[in-house]
Amino acid sequence: MYEMCAGVERHGGALVWHVMAKNTAVTLCGTRLDRQVDGVNAQRAGHCSTCMALFGKLMTAPPVVSAPAATDH
Ligand SMILES: [Zn+2]
Repeated sequence: MYEMCAGVERHGGALVWHVMAKNTAVTLCGTRLDRQVDGVNAQRAGHCSTCMALFGKLMTAPPVVSAPAATDH
């Protein structure tokens, strides 16, 4: 599962929406969001182009089996 998280594009950069997997603390583009952004500012934010590109690939690629303990059938 993935969710959108508003944050700065990079340190001191513009506010954008990143894509982040549910159980990680780092966005798809590798940004660590260390503070919440208030909703009013976030509504005007664009989208992180790196996250969008990676997210697009994730959505079109076949699912990756990431549980090494469950490889045996
Ligand atoms: Zn991003």
